[in-house]
Amino acid sequence: MKRYFLGMAAGYSTGEVWRHTFAMGRKSDCRALKKYLRGRYGGESTEDTRVVLCKNGRSALCLALMAYFEPGDAVIVNGFTCYAVYEAVKSAGLTPIWTDVSREDLNFDLSLLQVTRAGDGSGGNPKNVLRSKNFWGGKEPAGPARKIAGIIIQNSLGNPVDVKQVEAFARKHELTIIEDLAHSAGVKYADGREAGTVGAAAVFSFGKDKAIDTVSGGAVVLRHPCKREIKAPSKLPKLSDHLRARFYPFFGTVCRGLASVHLGGALMRGLVKIHWVEKSADNRLDLERKISKFEARLALKQFKKFKKSGEAPLRKFCLVQNRGEVLRELQKAGYYFGGFWYERPVSPERYYKKVHFPEENCPNSVFVAKHIINLPTYYSKADLAPALKIIEKYLLRDTRGGREK
Ligand SMILES: *Cc1c(COP(=O)(O)O)cnc(C)c1O
Repeated sequence: MKRYFLGMAAGYSTGEVWRHTFAMGRKSDCRALKKYLRGRYGGESTEDTRVVLCKNGRSALCLALMAYFEPGDAVIVNGFTCYAVYEAVKSAGLTPIWTDVSREDLNFDLSLLQVTRAGDGSGGNPKNVLRSKNFWGGKEPAGPARKIAGIIIQNSLGNPVDVKQVEAFARKHELTIIEDLAHSAGVKYADGREAGTVGAAAVFSFGKDKAIDTVSGGAVVLRHPCKREIKAPSKLPKLSDHLRARFYPFFGTVCRGLASVHLGGALMRGLVKIHWVEKSADNRLDLERKISKFEARLALKQFKKFKKSGEAPLRKFCLVQNRGEVLRELQKAGYYFGGFWYERPVSPERYYKKVHFPEENCPNSVFVAKHIINLPTYYSKADLAPALKIIEKYLLRDTRGGREK
């Protein structure tokens, strides 16, 4: 039996493929989704809460950043993430401050940030310009000191951050919190609050393999009054993008079916080549395009489904030695990885160079990217048992504590 961990729409059952391919959508579906998000994630005053539906998650994140920060500000970002986050931060005119992660939950470890306030005692500097060796790779970038104004919570692979710690940190340094829930829609924090009800904005991606998966689309709930005016997208999605989103689960299923005769991989590569299928990382940020209406309809259905989850992370991750070997063994046993999260501290590999990631400041992120394997949670225990047996042999037991150096 062939099994697929990730990629090729493996999370879609046959029934879901058909429901996705033929789903209709209307304007009222967008209104209904907005209303639902306002109700579930809205701020204290729902009158001030604004919900914007977007082409994808990165566009939604970019809008959130534009709403609460000034160009030139810096924001603290999880040092283990995908390129989409970098693209959103850059497009909003901000500087990312990559922060090393904990090997326990892949979330930024704030105890590693030694924040000192510039200007304390020296006079002249604005009060909330923060400086740290860790922040800037040992030296600050040229030009005026950046004001560190925000922190983006990621809840990596669905593992919730220590939200009390993040809030205390944010309060102390006067940072605005943005919650990026691409991995963690529906997750609960340790204190019982739902992810998305803590920060100034809650950002959702409905992209492939995300917590809410309608192939593309995104949303942002602006929970606090915006500091800067932002414009909601007004243009309809491109027809080509719409069709790609509609047929991806179908193409994925066909390719998975053909994999047993060794044609599926080739067919998928062919579809990517002629742009009938787009790799997730290549989905461009676009602040003008609206979500497809059928995606709004399907996203709302999925939101309503997980009312009380909170426990299920998006992926179960483990750290292994000799990852190449593990993947080969898994493949021999019939488990195919169509890519996994993440092979670089900022994935995918082909965009990594653009990011100028400060590896020397983030040894845990670098370590994790070398050793991580993650398993989706849409397979049953029985399905995964043979795979886990293989992984077990290579598990790095001692993954906790200490920074590798
Ligand atoms: C995928 C992802 C996004 C946004 O993804 P889109 O592909 O733009 O929908 C944002 N944040 C994180 C952490 C992600 O993994």
